[in-house]
Amino acid sequence: MDFSLDDEQRAIRDTARAFVTREVMPLEAELLRRERRHEPGITRDELRELQLKARTFGFWGMDTPEEYGGMALPAVVQSLIWTEIGRTYVPFRFGGEADNILFEANDAQRAEYLIPTIEGERISCFAITEPGAGSDAANIRLAARRDGDDWVLNGEKTFITNGNDADFAIVVAVTDPEKGVRGGGTTAFLVDRAMGWRSEFIQTMGEGGPASLVFSDVRVPSRNILGELGRGFELGMRWIGKGRYLIPSHALGTAERALGMAIEYANTRETFGRPIGANQAIQWMIADSETELEAARWLVLRAAWTVDQGTDPRHASSMAKLYGAGMVNRVVDRVLQIHGGMGYTRELPIERWYRQVRLLRIYEGTDEMQRLIISRDLLRGYTKLGGHLA
Ligand SMILES: Cc1cc2nc3c(=O)[nH]c(=O)nc-3n(C[C@H](O)[C@H](O)[C@H](O)COP(=O)(O)OP(=O)(O)OC[C@H]3O[C@@H](n4cnc5c(N)ncnc54)[C@H](O)[C@@H]3O)c2cc1C
Repeated sequence: MDFSLDDEQRAIRDTARAFVTREVMPLEAELLRRERRHEPGITRDELRELQLKARTFGFWGMDTPEEYGGMALPAVVQSLIWTEIGRTYVPFRFGGEADNILFEANDAQRAEYLIPTIEGERISCFAITEPGAGSDAANIRLAARRDGDDWVLNGEKTFITNGNDADFAIVVAVTDPEKGVRGGGTTAFLVDRAMGWRSEFIQTMGEGGPASLVFSDVRVPSRNILGELGRGFELGMRWIGKGRYLIPSHALGTAERALGMAIEYANTRETFGRPIGANQAIQWMIADSETELEAARWLVLRAAWTVDQGTDPRHASSMAKLYGAGMVNRVVDRVLQIHGGMGYTRELPIERWYRQVRLLRIYEGTDEMQRLIISRDLLRGYTKLGGHLA
């Protein structure tokens, strides 16, 4: 059994690390100053400038097929790169990406939506959650009623990331209530903001609030159906599935950086005439954090590896998301504790991480939903104990 990275994986990982360290991390001090002034951490122009610089290093479209100028990297390599990005608290991501389901676009939609999104000229958001349908996404109500060659959308989506900035939304709507959500009664639509939906910013405890989107008789032409009529929910679940191994990949980088800070602090901060790291209480927090971090690393990499094998990654990804999200919350909490009062201040990024990582246990499937998936797979015999080695 070989747990090492091959030369290519290591080279890409190291280049990503060098880029994040040299080009992104220098913005961190300014980011904390902005945080104290309640301003966004990074502007859209700054992000774009960084992404274009990264393009010159070869980082463009990690998951995007080569025919669109992307790298089409294996999931394991994407996971390694997201871990590098997770080391910085600047909300950075490499450019050249589009929502995975946007690749279902037909020729006309490719030109109008997909390619401009990859190029960073248009911003998308994905909307399935509604005020009455979060974990229970099959309970969505936003209605699309056919009217000639158009569809008329009425209803509300909520907690939509990028909802305030997006030029268009990928909206999952009910097109046939009788068929039901799981029976082919939903469809995904590409809906320009210019078609008439409006967004309202939602204040949260983290960076960059999501938005609610309000649809009141929004008319959408039939040509804006993404994929096929009746496949909206299926596309929605595919969109959500992607993040299930990338979210905990990012968490690994955050936990590693934070734990590194705690180790350094434990060795230098003195109380009662000796470094706090000389106390077993502190040593145990460090030991537990490193152990959990390492356990999460292998769950995450196995989930990514499962994606690369072309087998159903759902079970492995749910375990990675559940454990990885919990792990980073526990690690950041201990790191804050080790820093004492300093950990609680806005001089350091720890309190920011503390607020930010809380989200990971909620969005793209709460802890409870991941547990539901994992246990259901086992109880119904969809998966065997022992994973792929069984
Ligand atoms: C910052 C942020 C960004 C988001 N971005 C997007 C986005 O871009 N697009 C999008 O469509 N959505 C997005 N979401 C929505 C997100 O996916 C939902 O908030 C999430 O799925 C939970 O749904 P809910 O908030 O309605 O909670 P609920 O479903 O109401 O759940 C409330 C609590 O009950 C628990 N619970 C529910 N059912 C069960 C059960 N059967 N058994 C045990 N426990 C249960 C849940 O786990 C949770 O703890 C975002 C949310 C946030 C906060």
